[in-house]
Amino acid sequence: MSEFDLRGIGMTSQRTRDRLVARLREQGIEHPGVLDAMASTPRHIFIDEALSHRAYEDTALPIGHGQTISQPLVVALMTATLLNEVRGRVLELGTGSGYQTAILSALCQRVFSIERVEPLMQRARLRFDAMGLPNVVARVGDGYRGWPEQAPFSGILVTAAPRSLPDTLLEQLEVGGRMIVPVGDGGMQELKVIDRTEDGYVETVVEYVRFVPMLKGVRTS
Ligand code: SAH
Repeated sequence: MSEFDLRGIGMTSQRTRDRLVARLREQGIEHPGVLDAMASTPRHIFIDEALSHRAYEDTALPIGHGQTISQPLVVALMTATLLNEVRGRVLELGTGSGYQTAILSALCQRVFSIERVEPLMQRARLRFDAMGLPNVVARVGDGYRGWPEQAPFSGILVTAAPRSLPDTLLEQLEVGGRMIVPVGDGGMQELKVIDRTEDGYVETVVEYVRFVPMLKGVRTS
C-alpha cells in the first residue's frame, strides 16, 4: 500500500481520529471548525509508513531531514488562535509534512505555504494532490522573505522558530491581520500572537512550545 493511499479514511482510522479529537477537547480546544478539520484529516498519510501506526498519538514525530510533524495539540492551538481573528488568505512558513497546511486549507480561503527543504516539499505536494486541496499553493523558498508577490495576508502562521520577530513578515501582515509564531533560541520558545492594528503591532505570549529553528536559505537535498 502506498503511503499516500487514502483507504485509511475508513472506519478504523476515523475512530482513532475521534479519540484524538476528544483528547484535544479535554485539553481545552473548543473551536468547532478546528476540531472538525482534525476529525476529518487523515494524519497518517503525512507520516512515513514505519511510524504511521503512531499517527493519532498526540505527539510530534520525525519526518526526515531532521524535521518533525507538529504535535496535534499544538496544531490545534495555533490554528484556533489564528482563526479566532482571520479566515482569509493565510501564509504558512514551514510546510514540513503538509499536515498543518491541510488543516488550514479546510478553514481558510487560500493557503500559501513555503518550505526550505525541497525533498520535504516534493512529498508534501504528493499528499496535497492525493487529497485534492484546491486552495493550497506551495513552494520551496526561504520563509524569512515571506511571499511578497502575494502579500498582504490576513494571517501568518510560522511553524519553525526564528530568534526574533522578522520585520519582513510583520510588513506582509495586513491591518486587522494576525500572526502566530514561536520565537526564541533552542530549548523552549514563546508562542507569540501579533495583531496588526491601525496604530501598529500588539504582541501577546500564549504558550511555551518547542519547535525546530527557522533557518536561512534553501536546501535541495
Ligand atoms: N507544520 C509542519 C512542521 C514542520 S517542522 C508539520 O506539521 O509537518 C518545521 C518546518 O519548517 C521544517 O520542515 C523546516 O524545514 C521548515 N523551515 C525551517 N526554516 C524555514 C524557512 N526559513 N523557510 C521555510 N521553511 C523553513
